[in-house]
Amino acid sequence: MKCSCCGKKKRLFESFEELDTAVSVCVECSKKLYKYQDYMKEKNENEAKKILVEVKGTKNSPEFEVWLDAFLLRFKKKEDVGQTGNSSTESSEKTTTVEE
Ligand SMILES: [Zn+2]
Repeated sequence: MKCSCCGKKKRLFESFEELDTAVSVCVECSKKLYKYQDYMKEKNENEAKKILVEVKGTKNSPEFEVWLDAFLLRFKKKEDVGQTGNSSTESSEKTTTVEE
């Protein structure tokens, strides 16, 4: 097994974190992703960006890239997301009108 993020091979006693069925990352990459999350929560976007550059600068697998896109979307404000053309299978509960 290889890390979907950096391409590093899994060692015998190393535990990879499974992010998705086709996406597993090594401890280091998983730490980076958690850090990114923390920085985004703290609104420390500069540090978050640095981590993202690091993460993207490695041998990302295509599956990881897809996962990362979805991951990053979680941090975007709703109005920034907009319509991305070919996302078809995402029409579950988007029309929530709040009225009081
Ligand atoms: Zn890795």
